[in-house]
Amino acid sequence: MTIRDVIIIGGGASGSTAAYHLAKNKHKVTILEKNSAHLIKPCGGGMSAAVQQWFPFDLSPIVDEIIEKVEFTWCLNDRVIADLPGSSPFWIVKRENLDLFLINEAIDSGAEVLTSFNVINIKKFNNLWKIKAIDGRELETKAVVIADGSNSPWSQKFKLGPNQLHHASTYSIRLQGNGLLKKRTARFEFGLVKNGFAWAFPLKDEINVGVGTFIGDNQSSIPIEGILEKLLPNLGFNPKEGKKQKASLRVWNGHHSLNGEGIILIGDAASLCDPFLAEGLRPAILSGYEAAKSLNMWLKGDIENLDSYSIAIKKKWGYSMAWAKRISQVFYRFPKIGYNLGIKRPTAPKRIAQILSGEMGYEDIAQRVLKRLILRSKVN
Ligand SMILES: Cc1cc2nc3c(=O)[nH]c(=O)nc-3n(C[C@H](O)[C@H](O)[C@H](O)COP(=O)(O)OP(=O)(O)OC[C@H]3O[C@@H](n4cnc5c(N)ncnc54)[C@H](O)[C@@H]3O)c2cc1C
Repeated sequence: MTIRDVIIIGGGASGSTAAYHLAKNKHKVTILEKNSAHLIKPCGGGMSAAVQQWFPFDLSPIVDEIIEKVEFTWCLNDRVIADLPGSSPFWIVKRENLDLFLINEAIDSGAEVLTSFNVINIKKFNNLWKIKAIDGRELETKAVVIADGSNSPWSQKFKLGPNQLHHASTYSIRLQGNGLLKKRTARFEFGLVKNGFAWAFPLKDEINVGVGTFIGDNQSSIPIEGILEKLLPNLGFNPKEGKKQKASLRVWNGHHSLNGEGIILIGDAASLCDPFLAEGLRPAILSGYEAAKSLNMWLKGDIENLDSYSIAIKKKWGYSMAWAKRISQVFYRFPKIGYNLGIKRPTAPKRIAQILSGEMGYEDIAQRVLKRLILRSKVN
């Protein structure tokens, strides 16, 4: 049996990024993807242009829209419109296009992709990993990258990542046409959604609408019909339009080791998604890039273990997420105060853009924001 250098489970944004960089370094890498086609994934597709730094090729062919303005509302009123600073561009992509584009770049660099390969077992024997598919196929590899998203069972099985998983509950809808949503404008609605927010992001000739809740019992259901009854007409659509996709999204929940002997967790499987704004694409791509970097050195024998990966993610992402989690817990408990004192501040859109672009971390603004929210919630 051929022994691969690295097998990557999952061909989403994180897995395909890791595959591209490993293949570029001449490693024998295979992506195993359970689906056979790139389906519409539940995702807003909002992505900071900062992700371009992790690829030598141009990502602009898959950018549907470049956002110039953000519009915030509270219960569809109390509107705030702000220009985004040009220094921190925010892109909207169709997830299926992004994933396909990255997979094709990985293939062009020498990666192999096996589709309809639903992994059901991962075991280690004598320093090699054996990966088994539901249809009985079996492969062997020196290292395995877990990139199978929010429902990954492997983090728990190998005791990597948070021992207590935290999930945001979400709904996502793709609608035909732009409705009343202005071109190049992203819309965020607070107030209609308890413990969370709704968003509408423009694509070329469609829009992505979504709803997410971030604290409390993650199993509790979102009253989606009632929310859409109000939100969609406000965006110029019929509330019954579009196919709703429900998804549970694993969000960041503490600093934990994300690697073991020859095994690495990336993207949603590693619980990297921002627990305040649900930004998951940038950490998925960052973690795919960092995983490939550590694996490349490990496979060449330059390092003894993969700890450099967990350390890099903690430094480049985790410290900021620790503050995002604290802000999320206060903000979504007192959202009206958060809206008035945080979002409506003239500097808010600029700060959000700076956070999403990585120019600033949550820690840079956290102290000031928390002080303001806690003081005000005590007064009320
Ligand atoms: C409603 C919603 C809206 C969002 N909006 C945004 C946004 O606007 N901006 C943003 O930055 N982030 C957003 N996110 C988060 C973002 O979508 C995720 O963080 C991102 O998709 C993570 O990529 P990934 O590669 O880790 O996982 P995924 O994209 O989930 O990829 C995992 C892959 O693994 C495959 N797989 C699963 N199980 C197996 C198996 N057993 N065998 C083989 N393959 C398997 C799956 O088919 C899939 O292709 C949103 C998420 C949701 C749910």
